[in-house]
Amino acid sequence: MNTYELIKKKRDGRSLSTKEIGYLIAGYTNGHIPDYQMAAFLMSVYFKGMNARECRDLTMKMAASGASVDLSPIKGFKVDKHSTGGVGDKTTLVLAPLVASCGGIVAKMSGRELGHTGGTVDKLESIPGMRTDFTKEQFIEITNRVHVSVIAQTETLAPADKLIYALRNVTATVDAIPLIASSIMSKKLAAGADGIVLDVKTGAGAFTPLYTEAVKLAKTMVGIGEGVGKKTTAFITGMAQPLGFAIGNALEVKESIDTLNGSGPADLTELVLTLGSEMLMLSGIGRSHAEARAMLKSHIANKKGARKLKAFIEAQGGDPQVVENTGLLPRSRTRIPFEAANSGFVQGIDALEIGMAAKILGAGRQTKEDVIDLSIGVVLLKKVGDPVRKGEPLAMLHSDGDTAKIDPAAKRLSGAYAIGPEDVSPPKLIMARISGGNVKEVT
Ligand code: URA
Repeated sequence: MNTYELIKKKRDGRSLSTKEIGYLIAGYTNGHIPDYQMAAFLMSVYFKGMNARECRDLTMKMAASGASVDLSPIKGFKVDKHSTGGVGDKTTLVLAPLVASCGGIVAKMSGRELGHTGGTVDKLESIPGMRTDFTKEQFIEITNRVHVSVIAQTETLAPADKLIYALRNVTATVDAIPLIASSIMSKKLAAGADGIVLDVKTGAGAFTPLYTEAVKLAKTMVGIGEGVGKKTTAFITGMAQPLGFAIGNALEVKESIDTLNGSGPADLTELVLTLGSEMLMLSGIGRSHAEARAMLKSHIANKKGARKLKAFIEAQGGDPQVVENTGLLPRSRTRIPFEAANSGFVQGIDALEIGMAAKILGAGRQTKEDVIDLSIGVVLLKKVGDPVRKGEPLAMLHSDGDTAKIDPAAKRLSGAYAIGPEDVSPPKLIMARISGGNVKEVT
């Protein structure tokens, strides 16, 4: 086989065989195919796309490029959840212990921040002592004992994706549906869960801002999951404005604890109940979505979810006292209010701009080597639909006091908030549910 011929074939819009896709993935992973040829191939996929079979082959070859995790020593049905990435998306921190408290088994591998979006592993590390670097054996032991464990993706999991993702990041080929779908699903399949609930974000802060693109991505991923016998459901959910109020690692942990204690933001709570009831139904817990949802709600009210979070934190070396005393989480040096320039109603909050503001302040990395300050971030005080008076704080910047970061972050915030005279309703959160090839729009 010849790499040049395969690039040309895809460039000309023809489909590649399973063997040809395998040749490209193996060749790039073992270093025989150079970056410039893989970059040309990725760009031809960006323009010409892939059919369902090619996309499935690409996923399977990437999943098989490294070690896969055998979760069979964990008793019961293992359910995973994956978000395509958003701003303020701390859902896993609430969902994983809450679902486990209802009898679900959540053995999850998570990532760090990606672009303007945060990562669960960074967030968990803001809990004093909390570790995510466990061996496979420890991961299995914790899950069997506590029914929930979240660890960092190991270096050996889908290494082809790791290499290809880094290349896509610098060749303007991230936002291509077959590439996003295979990237996410290769890791999910290698991580070994029996069922997967996908949260596909759409809106300004998502990798698929257009609803139609998000649906296409979700259908592709559900097709891949179901094609290999995994129970897979996707939801299309809104990321026009950030989820909840907090953006930044320790700030998001605090908001997650508040949510498990029953005083979280309405949008985050709703998303947790929607995804959580699906996870329970896939696990065979509850006779209907309504029953599963009621169970989740009752485990927030009676604190069983919060108690499971404590057990999970303790099992992973963290200080469980944070669940009762969020003051133990890292706190930023200064807090600076960001004030409204005029009166009216908040008509829009661009999630991408808010994510960038938090990153500039120091909540995210500018280079791979950066060490992030886990206390830093932005807390929104007004969301879409809220009335506001000129001079009233719209958001609070949690900062290390460095004006070289505060000024540009504040500039991004001014660009993010749209204030006008008309009262508007908050944007839709749960838009559609996709399973078995059916798209059911949520009205
Ligand atoms: N998350 C991933 O893991 N891969 C993508 O391509 C996009 C989001």
